[in-house]
Amino acid sequence: MIDWDREQITCPRGKVSVTWRAGRDEVGSPRIQAVFSRTDCGACGVRKLCTSAKEKRRSVYFHPRPEYEALNAARARMHDPAWKKRYYVRAGIEGTLSQGVRALGMRRARYLGLDKTGLQQACSAAAMNALRAVRWRAMAESG
Ligand code: SF4
Repeated sequence: MIDWDREQITCPRGKVSVTWRAGRDEVGSPRIQAVFSRTDCGACGVRKLCTSAKEKRRSVYFHPRPEYEALNAARARMHDPAWKKRYYVRAGIEGTLSQGVRALGMRRARYLGLDKTGLQQACSAAAMNALRAVRWRAMAESG
């Protein structure tokens, strides 16, 4: 549990963090680090379940309050049937984009110039159609 006003977090064992530091992650995004005390974590019977850190205490990293609350609100909205209905429409294109990016490397252009880039996109789209046709055929044959 996070107490934003006191800048402390409480772990499942009821222990309260001893430090709270605003910083940045590896890619420069703001984040907060809260650390529990060596005394509390060192004597804790569930420490092995709580952290794999070699140091005998738990560190927790999380987003600053506005991002943290926005993320939680977005996650809560995902349980709303109306949200699920709206997302159902979007899910198809999300799958297509994911396949294009992950399987066919469409995040980056392989060539310079609009003509070649356009050709790459057309070839990737054709490859995606072929992959889907093969998969559909395999699924139809397996019953
Ligand atoms: S290891 Fe530390 S943070 Fe984890 S449950 Fe125990 S006292 Fe709490």
